Amino acid sequence: MSYLHCHACNFCQDDFWSPDGWNPIKSMKDWESDFFRDDFYEDRGMDSNWKEEIGYGRDQVVTTQELLALEFENRAKIIREMTYRTFDEYKEKNPEGICPQCGKKELDID
Ligand SMILES: [Zn+2]
Repeated sequence: MSYLHCHACNFCQDDFWSPDGWNPIKSMKDWESDFFRDDFYEDRGMDSNWKEEIGYGRDQVVTTQELLALEFENRAKIIREMTYRTFDEYKEKNPEGICPQCGKKELDID
């Protein structure tokens, strides 16, 4: 996995996608068994600090149903914000490594 980001501004995107490696669809497959948990509608007992960080109330009930919906929302955000799906696409469309947001040559891959 390779994470593209800019050192001059806050531009960043998901790790480059691959049909055989990381991509948003494959990452959701890891959650598939959770759709059939017996406790689907029950509180998962998530950490209060985590809940607050995500935007839930500290005492809010967070079920598996909610966690799955959150994961789909997160993947939707990733897909909308993806500028270069693959490393090859990035090299082809932006060989100079110019940031699409600020225009500076400050892109880096970690
Ligand atoms: Zn930038």
